[in-house]
Amino acid sequence: MAESEFFAGLDIGGTTVKTVLVDHRGEVAGDMIEVRSHVKDGFEATFGQLESALDRLTSAIGISRSQVRGIGMDVPAPSCDGVIWGKANLHENWVGTNIRDKFSARIGGTPVYMTNDGNAAALGEYAVRRKHHGGLLLVAPGTGLGGGLVLPGGRAYEGSNGLALEVGHISSPHREDDGTLPTCSCGKDGCLEAWVSLVALRRRIGIELARPENESHPLNDGSPVEEKAFKLRDFAQQGDEMAIGIFRQQGQILGYGLADLVRVFDPGLVVIGGGLAETVGFRDDYMDWIKQGFAERAWPMYMKSPIDPAKTTTRFEWAIGGDSSAALGVAFSAREMFRS
Ligand SMILES: [Zn+2]
Repeated sequence: MAESEFFAGLDIGGTTVKTVLVDHRGEVAGDMIEVRSHVKDGFEATFGQLESALDRLTSAIGISRSQVRGIGMDVPAPSCDGVIWGKANLHENWVGTNIRDKFSARIGGTPVYMTNDGNAAALGEYAVRRKHHGGLLLVAPGTGLGGGLVLPGGRAYEGSNGLALEVGHISSPHREDDGTLPTCSCGKDGCLEAWVSLVALRRRIGIELARPENESHPLNDGSPVEEKAFKLRDFAQQGDEMAIGIFRQQGQILGYGLADLVRVFDPGLVVIGGGLAETVGFRDDYMDWIKQGFAERAWPMYMKSPIDPAKTTTRFEWAIGGDSSAALGVAFSAREMFRS
């Protein structure tokens, strides 16, 4: 492998665009460059941003653009073979366009690998665990519930059409007190994401605050539910019972759902991403609740080897990749695919 080879990771999000370079060994070269995302203005605007980021990344470490031998790119929408299938938060001209090939042509034919943001985040967690060579399943509770699966060896499993690992939309049997299944942001009822996401938190806060015993709860202050959801984590960290109850339920339902995913994929390592990964103290409780839910649904062999009880069969860890995780993940994949 040539020492003069570099690979770029371009993480195109709805809010920001993050870009990194890695060298031939996979070490990060220079600093991450982050700019506000212009995806709503059409893909050409984003292409301009990506090109200027590439110029800044390369000149910051004193290399030429031609030394970037491959590019990894991730997009916040379902895509297949370089073509975006769903609009999500993007301008409509992204849909149906072969973004991968168009961008590759624009930058002089440098090969581009493109995937979705969930896969990229999972690849990033794999990339930062340099000693881990097994599988890795990532679930990331955020506005929704994203996820991705990396196979042993380091490739993301994307399915036949790039539509795999929509972990937020597997069925969850949990019902509200009135017996109904909650409606998901995708329009279906009973998705896991309808319990494990920011959207779910907002719904649960409304339900809990309407109970007579919570009438005098400090969050019953007439503030918008978005604000209440934002404060809920602080309340939980301070030991507030209602807040803890909401997060406990969320963690347990996530664990219950993970038991099914682990039964299908047996990844060995489950990484929990999303905003809670950055909370101190409280996140240990949250992880315990995930494991409780998991233990309720998974067979014992998915926790410990029946032959050697000292051997854990499914480990749980918090995400450690941070902000640049997805960009790093696709940069690593580009290195795997396009190095000489
Ligand atoms: Zn759904």
